[in-house]
Amino acid sequence: MAEFSIIETYFNRRNNTDVDLGVGDDSALLTPPRNHQLVICADTLVAGRHFPLDTSPHAIGWKSVAVNLSDIAAMGAKPHSILLALSLPQIDHDWLKDFSQGLYDCCDQFGVRLIGGDTTQSPHLTLSVTALGWIETGKAVTRSGAQVGDLIVVSGSVGDAAFALQHLGHPLQQRLDYPTPRCELGDMLKGLASSMIDVSDGLAQDLGHILNASDVGAKIQLDQLPINNALRDLDNNQRWKYALAGGDDYELCFTITMQNYQKLLQLQPNVKTTIIGEITQQRGLVFEKDGLDHPLHLNGYQHFA
Ligand code: ADP
Ligand code: MG
Repeated sequence: MAEFSIIETYFNRRNNTDVDLGVGDDSALLTPPRNHQLVICADTLVAGRHFPLDTSPHAIGWKSVAVNLSDIAAMGAKPHSILLALSLPQIDHDWLKDFSQGLYDCCDQFGVRLIGGDTTQSPHLTLSVTALGWIETGKAVTRSGAQVGDLIVVSGSVGDAAFALQHLGHPLQQRLDYPTPRCELGDMLKGLASSMIDVSDGLAQDLGHILNASDVGAKIQLDQLPINNALRDLDNNQRWKYALAGGDDYELCFTITMQNYQKLLQLQPNVKTTIIGEITQQRGLVFEKDGLDHPLHLNGYQHFA
């Protein structure tokens, strides 16, 4: 019974438009727009592993949605709805109220509906969100399309969240707790970017996935990395480490021709974008500073380290 009252109280807002059947039946029903493909992904957050145990429930709710919308955006797709699988150690109404508010705040900001899920008891607080979106058939931007000579571009700034994790209470904690999925930018890049990924495990590692999938290499200009001013007093190696190996950024990294990049800028996306390097034929990731090779030793986030 408790399970049903939790769902009814916190996860059953009946204001779903554009959903044929939402929370309350065995499954949800959606009608796909004509000539579109379903884009679907899932991401799990485990308390103590993916966020500090004392993170505010509102932030946990926001982030559990945001990290999934970021994956949808990274395909060049528009998010539509989410499902929430919630595993709770106990029923804590204050927690559930703030958590569901954070979740709906993120949904509302990006026009996304909660259409179903699952609620269970478990010793560890775990949140698994599945996100669904649509894209015109054949238009998805994958990791495998990077071409030699393409620019490498990243949105926003990188390293903020990793810095904040080491400096809890710093104003940048907002970037750790409330990542902004780059939905508008991702949608604009459909038809313009040659490849794309969202940066969740560190820019170097995630760009590496594009390079592997596209069978190309990259040269990155260290001085062009978009690093927050709050990190300016750190020495270069520390700043680059946060920027390249930090993780939890939820920015978009994409490859694009100069011509298409100009088109993107004309569309005036709502987030800054920065050219950080170029795709090369030579495999591997090379860092450059002042025109010289500048080797760095980095590790991205390892899920089973
Ligand atoms: P079943 O036992 O048939 O799987 P449930 O009792 O788990 O159904 O869920 C009842 C309804 O509530 C379903 O529509 C399900 O999608 C929805 N639901 C369950 N948990 C959640 C949740 N945490 N958030 C949103 N919807 C949920
Ligand atoms: Mg169920």
